[in-house]
Amino acid sequence: MILIDGKKAAAELRQELKHEVISLKAKYNKVPGLTVILIGDLTPSQIYVRNKEKSANEVGLKSEVIKYPDSVNEKTVLEKIEELNKDKSVSGILVQLPLPKHIDKQKVIETILPSKDVDGFHPMNVGNLSLGYESSVPCTPLGCYLLIKKIEPNLNGKKAVIVGRSNLNGKPMMQLLLKENCTVTITHSKTKDLKAECLEADIIVAAVGIPELVKGDWVKKGTIVIDVGINKTDKGIVGDVDFDEVSKNAKALTPVPGGVGPMTIACLLKNTIECFKRTQI
Ligand code: NAP
Repeated sequence: MILIDGKKAAAELRQELKHEVISLKAKYNKVPGLTVILIGDLTPSQIYVRNKEKSANEVGLKSEVIKYPDSVNEKTVLEKIEELNKDKSVSGILVQLPLPKHIDKQKVIETILPSKDVDGFHPMNVGNLSLGYESSVPCTPLGCYLLIKKIEPNLNGKKAVIVGRSNLNGKPMMQLLLKENCTVTITHSKTKDLKAECLEADIIVAAVGIPELVKGDWVKKGTIVIDVGINKTDKGIVGDVDFDEVSKNAKALTPVPGGVGPMTIACLLKNTIECFKRTQI
């Protein structure tokens, strides 16, 4: 079984991006810039943002974090986004989620210029992805996709089963695999026989949020299994896949932690660079 090392893959991607930033700087005499807006003092959000900033600096991007207290009003945040939309030194804008209840998440997402939407959450980018046009793609499914392609470069005709249909993970994952000519089944909480669906799969992507939901006997021999889940349990952080059992059948499997997680941040940097490049033409 191949243990898919997300940390190594992310380090390799960051290295590639670092070289790309050097050549972009030589060509345009400027570097892509990422601005993150962080609202409130939720510890996980602070950690995510710190890691994003550290990784952005590592690859040579210009990075900035704008912090607001929990009490900030929606108008202030929207005005800041408008200001960043006009700022030519900002290639990508990310508002760290979740937001305090009094701030409308969708309004925030839709205020970000689609060309600077590094999270790929703006309806324009969601639409472009589903039409097969160029767009920012949400970072976690993009990371999963790159890991799958490392194991199996030709996905033509493969049967992919995605567990979970969230806008953040399952749906964009479906679009990416469909574009690669996979036959995609997307499952969810109302799916009648999840085990039977999974047993058909050459590729399984689990993005559910239920610890170790995907069992060993749900996976046929030779399947590539990508575990997006991050679940806190008594035995520590586990994924949505029963790692010990599934590793007996899978051809390749991502661990949790150290699989999809590190790729998510590296893909954010990739998206920032792509946004920069699209505006230089
Ligand atoms: P979400 O928005 O809560 O969506 C969960 C999906 O799972 C829903 O579509 C839901 O179906 C489906 N589901 C729930 N119970 C199910 C069941 N018994 N059988 C089949 N499907 C079921 O979750 P998310 O934001 O996509 O996140 C999923 C997991 O990924 C979480 O553990 C999260 O922490 C993790 N995550 C990891 C990263 C990373 O970087 N590694 C990034 C983001 C999220 P319905 O639509 O029918 O309700």
